[in-house]
Amino acid sequence: MKNNWSKSSAKKYIKKYKNIGFSKDLALRVYTTRLLGRNKELVLHGGGNTSVKTTIKDIDGKKYNVLCVKGSGWDMADIEPEGLPAVKLEPLIALKNKKYLSDEDMVSYQKRNLINIKAPNPSVETFLHAFLPFKFVDHTHADAVLNATNRPGGLNFCKKVFGNKVSIVPYVMPGFMLAKKINEIYSINPNINCLILMNHGIFTFADDAKEAYDLMIKYVSQAERAINKLKVKKIKQIKNFSTRFNAHEIAPIIRGLLSNNKDQKFVVNYRLNKHLKYFMNGKNVRSYSSKGTATPDHVIRVKPFPLIITPKKNSSIDEFKITAKKAFENYRKKYINYFNVNKNKVKGKKVMLDTSPRVVLVQNVGVFTIGKDLNAAKIAGDLTETNAKVIASVEETSAYKFIPEKDIFDVEYWSLEHLEGNVVVITGSTGTIGFETYKMFKSYGAEVVLLDYNLERLKDLQSKIKELCIHCDVRNKKSVKKVFNQICEKYGGIDILISNAGTATNGAIGEIDDNVLRQSFEDNFFSHQNCASEAIKIMKKQNINGCLLFNISKQSVNPGKNFGPYGLPKSALLSLCKQYAVDYGSYGIRSNGVNADRIRSGLMNDKMIRTRAKARSVSTDDYMRENLLLNEVKAEDVAKAFFHLATSKKTTGAVLTVDGGNIAASLR
Ligand SMILES: [Zn+2]
Repeated sequence: MKNNWSKSSAKKYIKKYKNIGFSKDLALRVYTTRLLGRNKELVLHGGGNTSVKTTIKDIDGKKYNVLCVKGSGWDMADIEPEGLPAVKLEPLIALKNKKYLSDEDMVSYQKRNLINIKAPNPSVETFLHAFLPFKFVDHTHADAVLNATNRPGGLNFCKKVFGNKVSIVPYVMPGFMLAKKINEIYSINPNINCLILMNHGIFTFADDAKEAYDLMIKYVSQAERAINKLKVKKIKQIKNFSTRFNAHEIAPIIRGLLSNNKDQKFVVNYRLNKHLKYFMNGKNVRSYSSKGTATPDHVIRVKPFPLIITPKKNSSIDEFKITAKKAFENYRKKYINYFNVNKNKVKGKKVMLDTSPRVVLVQNVGVFTIGKDLNAAKIAGDLTETNAKVIASVEETSAYKFIPEKDIFDVEYWSLEHLEGNVVVITGSTGTIGFETYKMFKSYGAEVVLLDYNLERLKDLQSKIKELCIHCDVRNKKSVKKVFNQICEKYGGIDILISNAGTATNGAIGEIDDNVLRQSFEDNFFSHQNCASEAIKIMKKQNINGCLLFNISKQSVNPGKNFGPYGLPKSALLSLCKQYAVDYGSYGIRSNGVNADRIRSGLMNDKMIRTRAKARSVSTDDYMRENLLLNEVKAEDVAKAFFHLATSKKTTGAVLTVDGGNIAASLR
């Protein structure tokens, strides 16, 4: 493998990035990351990652030791400093001796220690980078390394190939446990400068950018040389015949068969070259192409196995249609079986993804790759080329061997989008809190249905977002029932209800009109009961757990003067929340609430804030910051609280306070 380091280019990077305010460390990190990312035999599309340990000045003027590590959504080939979010290093290293960290906690801890919270999510391999005490850490999924590891006896083969400054690490899924394993291996062998991760890739590290890069090229070249020395036996090919149809004639057939339900559509991209032809026309392609991908994270784009169609010789396009249809049916059956066999072997509840293939090999015709858009289809194609090359090459010298199916499944279904497949219903969704909550849940992959009473605002909302917005008067049981039925028809049910709608009514409790008080109970108590009781019926029927979340308010425990008409139903709501926890816990249905206070929203608008601030002779900003943390609480903080409660699987009957600290409103 060619070493592409150039002294003059490195200097240019340093100069260019210095001019826009970045350090030499980051400039060189960008430079060698791009060198690695632009070599297709090292990484493809978002694969691999790099890091640099450096210092950064925060707004407080203090310098912090940070790890700038590749963030999600960035490609190494065109990385920029923004694609290398800075995470405070000490808090990462502080977890070196921690026995276990869940994926959720890992992600949230990494995010919490970002210098800029708006930066992309740091890589899942952040801890691994942090634990290795070198300034520059480079990681790729080099073809030649995978070629060496993905074969029977791969571990011993690698030991012979790479020499004594390299440790060979058996497969562990990326995440905190892999980082711990690497830390353990490094502390026993502190002389190493490279790690070969079986069935995954390679890490090289040094205190100098060039040295870490040089080591990568050196070790990959060693792997290449070792493989080139092996005896090659060409893969036996099927009989070559030209079909009577062309790729463009069968692409629409494949595309049609992919859309199992007519709403789900895919883009299909065709390609063929010498390598792909050799791979897909192999006699044993059904066996070797089903053993896995070259490196685990490809599975997310190409699924664990491709669909293979063998057209009959001289068949017509109609005959092809029949063959293809049958092949698709078998593929879907095979995928469902794969899901059912493996879903119980891994942690957490899994919802099956669609059963359509992402790669269709039509023997003697070519490769069709599939994605939700053209870019995704092409990425699946590029990964297929790499997989085909690596698998074919191993097959020529041995037999392809990859990680067990359960581990492939774990990667395919290990998703940070914890809420995929969940149906979330939010009431009062056109309000500030409702809308922030919608954004939060959507960002984690949930299906969100937005309800509101205000038709005009709902229409306005619907014009801006794709998700279903439905008019619903939550005070009216019939309206709720009708809407929930509609949701069941469209989505099959409900998993998470965020009962958020409410109104603010005030007045001295001794003088308030009974009707006003009763109306407030309709708005702020019965509305929640209407939604929760309907949701419960659906959740019990589904029998797949469920979650009720109530927007309660601090008034429930800390009444404000003249706020009785609002606070009293909210106190009843607090009891309602607990009652649901008690009555439905045994069905796996959790019930929790959020006590928020002083949030800029429809209930607490700018005018109201100005009046209250004036009454206390403080500025509006100071008024909003009047809490123990001296920080304004925002709607997005409330959304986060809802999200935490929705994902805290062992919490029910609880209330989370989001008010910046107000000891008088704390629960006791
Ligand atoms: Zn990796």
